[in-house]
Amino acid sequence: MSKKLKIVELGDKILRTKAKAVSVKGIKSKKFQGLIDNMIKTCDLNDGVGIAAPQVNEGLRLFILWSKSNKRYKKVPSLGPIAIINPRIVSSSKKITKAYEGCLSIPGIRGLVPRHKSIDVEFITREGEELQITLEDFPARIFQHEYDHLNGIVFLDRTDPKDLVTEKEYQRILKM
Ligand code: ZN
Repeated sequence: MSKKLKIVELGDKILRTKAKAVSVKGIKSKKFQGLIDNMIKTCDLNDGVGIAAPQVNEGLRLFILWSKSNKRYKKVPSLGPIAIINPRIVSSSKKITKAYEGCLSIPGIRGLVPRHKSIDVEFITREGEELQITLEDFPARIFQHEYDHLNGIVFLDRTDPKDLVTEKEYQRILKM
């Protein structure tokens, strides 16, 4: 049975610490597969579209990408949940797009964040396979946000302070 994990919030040092590579030998272990299942459950119960291991106090290069429409994100493409292990961004488009992001570790705040429109990435799946894929638009944005978490970066670091809004204000902007 998977369980909901506690999410650490801005100010916790683990969110500012570079995460360590996952040992490929351990991927199939019950403990690691259990962590993946718990992260998926935690993401779902918090209406997230992604969650990185440091957010649940595990300093590992692992995140969940789960693009789906919910209360916090409307009208987005469906993709995932996929466990992304030891990811690498191989190349990124020159084209940059700005859109609002939030973070389960930074409740109540949204900000406009510039991200590459498309990226070529490689990572290891929870089955232990190496995969190379191209992501565009919203899923590419989630990937870049979660990837940042593995390097101790949060979206606020990439946002112009003038582009920060409260959750309430964000909901009003969505309706305009
Ligand atoms: Zn986040």
